[in-house]
Amino acid sequence: TGEDSGGQTYTVGIDTTYPPFEFEDSSGNYKGIDVDLIRAIAENQGFEVKLEPMDFGGIIPALQAGQLDVAIAGMSITDERKKIVDFSEPYFEAGLTLVSQKGNNEIKTLEDLKGKTVVVKSGTTGAQFAQDNKDKYEYEITVLEDSPSMFQEVSNGNADVLIEDYPVIAYAIAESNLDLKIVGDRLNGDHYGIAVLKGEHADLLDMINTGLQELKDSGKYDEILNTYISE
Ligand code: GLN
Repeated sequence: TGEDSGGQTYTVGIDTTYPPFEFEDSSGNYKGIDVDLIRAIAENQGFEVKLEPMDFGGIIPALQAGQLDVAIAGMSITDERKKIVDFSEPYFEAGLTLVSQKGNNEIKTLEDLKGKTVVVKSGTTGAQFAQDNKDKYEYEITVLEDSPSMFQEVSNGNADVLIEDYPVIAYAIAESNLDLKIVGDRLNGDHYGIAVLKGEHADLLDMINTGLQELKDSGKYDEILNTYISE
């Protein structure tokens, strides 16, 4: 209830389902790197969080509408987004990759996508990448709202490839029996950051950055990562 610490409660947007960063376990509890990280930062800095899972595409609009104070959703730090939100220091290195059905030996690079269908998730850097390169490689784009739907669309053969963040698809392939494989090298490199609405939350952003640094220094940050990712 927040009474114990006396701290303020902030509403935090997370992606509906984006393991290992956010997901619901079998008893309906939210888990994942992002969830543990924002909870640990809040504990360290003496505030409370209320998690709001939503489609990724709705998160920045919800920040703008004042429905969210914070977003942590495997959100990549981009110059475009920096016009609308302020980001914390980076907390995870990611980047995009192409993904096809396991048995697909036809598609090896972007050059092989002519006339093919590329699935992306609304509002993501993957969607932006697909749009930016569409004319060059001459593929069709299908936009879906969440990652499991993208995985489904390619594994059942409705589309040829999808674009997803490397750590997310690598985790999904390792954890579940998906008929999917990573194709080629990463398409780009980026970093995840925690977002607040631009110019509105300087104090909150300070707390987030201080908390994040203290978790890194104490080893808690590594502990959270190691809970979900072994490497
Ligand atoms: N990292 C990607 C982005 O920022 C995807 C995030 C997501 O799907 N949750 O757009």
